[in-house]
Amino acid sequence: MKKKKRILVAGMLALTLAITSADTQYIFANEFAGKEEYWLNKCSVAQANTQEAQKCAEFKSYYQTVSNDLESEIGSLQNQVAKIQNNMEEVQAGMKQIEDAIKKLDNNIRINKENIETIKAEMIVIDGRIVEIQKSITMRNALIMDRMQNEQVNMGTNMKIEIIMGATDLVDLIRKIDGLQRITESDQKEIQKLTDDQKELEFQKDEQARLKEEIEAKNKEIEKNKRDAEEIKKEKKRLLSVYRQQEAELNEKMRSMQTDMSSIQNNIININTSVLRPQKPSKPGGGSGGQAGGNDDYVPDFESGSMILPVRGGQKTAGTWYYPGGGVHLGLDYGAPIGTPVVAPSDGIVLFASNAYDTTNGFLGNWIGFPAGAGNSIHFLTQVDGITYAISFFHLAKEGFMASPGASFKQGEVLAHVGNSGNTSGPHCHMEVINLGKMSLETAISKFQSTADFAWGTGWGDSALSRTCSVSGAPCRERPETMFH
Ligand SMILES: [Zn+2]
Repeated sequence: MKKKKRILVAGMLALTLAITSADTQYIFANEFAGKEEYWLNKCSVAQANTQEAQKCAEFKSYYQTVSNDLESEIGSLQNQVAKIQNNMEEVQAGMKQIEDAIKKLDNNIRINKENIETIKAEMIVIDGRIVEIQKSITMRNALIMDRMQNEQVNMGTNMKIEIIMGATDLVDLIRKIDGLQRITESDQKEIQKLTDDQKELEFQKDEQARLKEEIEAKNKEIEKNKRDAEEIKKEKKRLLSVYRQQEAELNEKMRSMQTDMSSIQNNIININTSVLRPQKPSKPGGGSGGQAGGNDDYVPDFESGSMILPVRGGQKTAGTWYYPGGGVHLGLDYGAPIGTPVVAPSDGIVLFASNAYDTTNGFLGNWIGFPAGAGNSIHFLTQVDGITYAISFFHLAKEGFMASPGASFKQGEVLAHVGNSGNTSGPHCHMEVINLGKMSLETAISKFQSTADFAWGTGWGDSALSRTCSVSGAPCRERPETMFH
């Protein structure tokens, strides 16, 4: 009694420390961090005493803290991803604007180039017209010269005087002077007009050249703007790819953390904080018991003389040691409808029992449960003809689960029911029998508490075939089909 009280006080002290500390993880860290595998293994089964069970409870809470930390880290990563996504949206909007601007600039450049071409054509036309006018002026000058010479021939060398003085009469004189005047005036007018036209065309040509230069200069500026915009676009594109890279990295990190977290959550289900003590079978039902309460001295005595087939229905779908289609199979599979009773093959006690998973969550490659892939499972200790056996039942249903660590069962009492949990391709119960030789029940219980090994050192996979009872001493693997009668 006195001893128990001290343990209780120590336990409370530890609890107080854990609560008052600002950094609870620190307290756990030295003890559990980096040794999770060890503690998971140790705490996958009910413990030998309350101190050990308390440690497992502490480990469970440490593990939950790790999971919580991961969760909050995942949350902050999600925030970071959201920020990056915002940034990306902004950059993409910016890029859209720049692309629109480039399109507009391109359009302007195209229009300006068209204008320049039009001006060039216009200038060619003007040049042509100038040449024509010059030709006209030359022609007209030649014509005037010609006429003047003719006049001179007609009127003598000193044209005007000759005309005036040589007039035969006044009327003739007026006619001659008048004609002369008309000729020079109209010619002069015509030449003046042509010269004016030419000047006008020269002016127009200058104007066009000036316009062309102006447009060309403007276009150069636009082209420079376009190059600048393309440079910015390139920069934004680069930024976008940096963001994409960051997003991918964060997502990858997040995925790996989520995997860690879900594996921790799966493992937490398997942490057992109860104390395993053999309990007297309760009447009439057998093993409905949860926690044993203080009956330390109870040593079960098992009376059955042989084992009966535990699955009460269905049929054998795969035997030991190989699957029908090949591949090592270390147990006996009984395919039966979900809910088919699985009973104690002989008198015995439950070493491990877990129905944490849904009855129908099974699929090939689903590694939940303990051992991995077992889904809901039971490990059962029994004695027949002075030999101790440990028997595993895998893939059980969540419902109608009667077994709990430490509970005793008489032969034929219902332990659980067939389910489809863990690594399965359909509803069935997988059973394995380990022969422990003459190992005492107390030794077997304490050994299982320290190893949590459903294989009892015989291993799994191909290597386990060298530990069958036909080639090896105990602990060794029996063919269940030869054990159940
Ligand atoms: Zn199987």
